[in-house]
Amino acid sequence: MRAVVFERYGDPAEVRELPDPSPAPHGVVVRVEATGLCRSDWHGWMGHDPDITLPHVPGHELAGVVEAVGGRVTRWRPGDRVTVPFVCACGSCPSCAAGDQQVCERQTQPGFHHWGSFAEYVALDHADVNLVALPDDMAYGTAAALGCRFATAFRAVVQQGRVAAGEWVAVHGCGGVGLSAVMIAAASGARVVAVDVSPRALELARRFGAAECLDAAGVPDPAAAVRELTGGGAHLSLDALGSPATCAASVNGLRRRGRHVQVGLLPSADGTTPVPLARAIALELELLGSHGMAAHAYPGMLRLVRTGVLRPDLLVTRTITLDAAPAALAAMDTAPAAGVTVIEPRRRRPGGPPFPAAG
Ligand SMILES: [Zn+2]
Ligand SMILES: [Zn+2]
Repeated sequence: MRAVVFERYGDPAEVRELPDPSPAPHGVVVRVEATGLCRSDWHGWMGHDPDITLPHVPGHELAGVVEAVGGRVTRWRPGDRVTVPFVCACGSCPSCAAGDQQVCERQTQPGFHHWGSFAEYVALDHADVNLVALPDDMAYGTAAALGCRFATAFRAVVQQGRVAAGEWVAVHGCGGVGLSAVMIAAASGARVVAVDVSPRALELARRFGAAECLDAAGVPDPAAAVRELTGGGAHLSLDALGSPATCAASVNGLRRRGRHVQVGLLPSADGTTPVPLARAIALELELLGSHGMAAHAYPGMLRLVRTGVLRPDLLVTRTITLDAAPAALAAMDTAPAAGVTVIEPRRRRPGGPPFPAAG
């Protein structure tokens, strides 16, 4: 199969022929039809993720067709259209037994713990626990955005954040997960303040329902600006980027008894990030984390997508070939495209060889 692979952290990745994967007894191999390019892939490529071993194939937001099935899999067969949460759960640990597969104690994440979906094929573990059937009318590109960013935002806003109609919700960082959060919070009846430094990202946030758009580069103190716009602070605030500055701004922009949800990853040299805890005490703030969403929670979200209440398809602003993926991965930090970029591994660049036969 063709796949994007890197041998050393931060060195340019390249597209190469690699052996096709085969399924574990409890797993499947999926033919990848679309896979999202996420900031977490960039973190992995830069060496920020201790779970990665080299050489490595990134990619964790995918949708495709089941190609091969392990002998112990009962729910899936070749030809099924599927997606998968980026946290693949074991199905048998105490967290899984409690229904919290998103924090499974023996989780495997495609594109981190093993080779991922920037490839024509990807192997996925514990298929009966983790695969999600796609509605017939959902495009693969739309579905690819669900597995990490949209589902993560859904859980962060609805489940962990407990959003309520009429509340003020601040979203710091309007990349893929932030824009998803804006859309989901607005659809929940909340008034959303979108915060970013990119005019293009804020324009998309406005289109997805943000009531207020705050250019963080244009104000000395984004948290103070959020407090002013919301009449005293947001009820719920998300750091959807993941940086010491956005984390602090999110916490400091809350009103009394507000809820902060940390969604963006927070890599740092010493592994810890300063958080304004004094304010959390004085204002009785809740500080929450959010980590993907279990497969069993997808149907509720998919219903809202099918009825048009949520439009993850609008997040997909760019579709590229596998050959264009290494450069797009490298540009994630310095020149990220607004919205979600989706890679179609089976689409060839103009003039290249035709599609391989399906199935
Ligand atoms: Zn588990
Ligand atoms: Zn991701």
